[in-house]
Amino acid sequence: MIVIIGSINMDLVLRVPRMPLPGETITGGQFRTIPGGKGANQAVACARLSADDVKVAMVACLGDDAFGAELRAALRKDGIDDSHVTTIAGTASGIASILVDDNGQNSIVLASGANAELSPAHIDAARGLIEQARIVVLQLESPLPTVIHAIRLAHALGKTVVLNPAPAQALPTELLGQIDYLVPNEIEAAMLAGMPASGIDNDEQIAAVISKLRAAGSTNVLVTLGDKGVYAALESGSEHVDAQAVKAVDTTAAGDTFIGGFVAALAEGRSEAEAIALGQRAAAISVARVGAQTSIPSRREVAD
Ligand code: ADP
Repeated sequence: MIVIIGSINMDLVLRVPRMPLPGETITGGQFRTIPGGKGANQAVACARLSADDVKVAMVACLGDDAFGAELRAALRKDGIDDSHVTTIAGTASGIASILVDDNGQNSIVLASGANAELSPAHIDAARGLIEQARIVVLQLESPLPTVIHAIRLAHALGKTVVLNPAPAQALPTELLGQIDYLVPNEIEAAMLAGMPASGIDNDEQIAAVISKLRAAGSTNVLVTLGDKGVYAALESGSEHVDAQAVKAVDTTAAGDTFIGGFVAALAEGRSEAEAIALGQRAAAISVARVGAQTSIPSRREVAD
């Protein structure tokens, strides 16, 4: 079993000819609601990309609104165990209000809603589920004390812990030693290492950031580099693995899809190299499609 602890959002996506100015009203184009949130995206990616006999469960909070019902149905449609997805009375579900202009530029406002209610008590209530897991996956769209509590519990139970430290923020250093695979993008990696994000654009600089993270206690670090692929600094050795060449249409959830493929392969007992390859193949398909969960491929599509 793979357990994902994290956020669930409804993405409210509105096309606009250009970004409105403060105080201005403009007429937009197509409006769509698309299930998202890093936690739910990673859960869906794990479910679609893992072998049929691997179960995927999520620990999260939803609001008691129409979005909450729709988001829960979306998880179930992908076969995800939602028995520890708690509906919080009197609270709105998390949303991301996203404007996309004609140049493909995004402007996003997040309202965490029920995601802010995920507490250490919810993690303790899910202990039985976490005990059954082989891999536990977390991100930073949930309250930090809850994430820290969950990492400590999963580590103490001997689980493989994967943290996608997004959105970028600093973490207590002692936590790094309890994470088996830290999977940041380059901006998040720089932030964690306390270095300026602007200066990271070659392997040498990435290696410098990683050696800082290693010195702070990280064992395996996979820095995702968009169309430049992944820099993998593993206990077994370091290497830069190129991305698949594709025409990118929308890179939303590329990182989430990579993590889903990587974790799905690890859960089957495959090697780290095979896991990186599955993650990158799946992510390349996702960037050629629009949306978050709408863009995540199935294992069969990746195999083809
Ligand atoms: P995030 O979305 O978290 O910032 P990245 O942009 O680094 O993550 O992308 C994660 C992974 O998705 C990359 O390591 C790569 O494998 C794949 N990817 C992202 N953008 C592209 C692209 N334009 N072409 C091919 N693969 C891509």
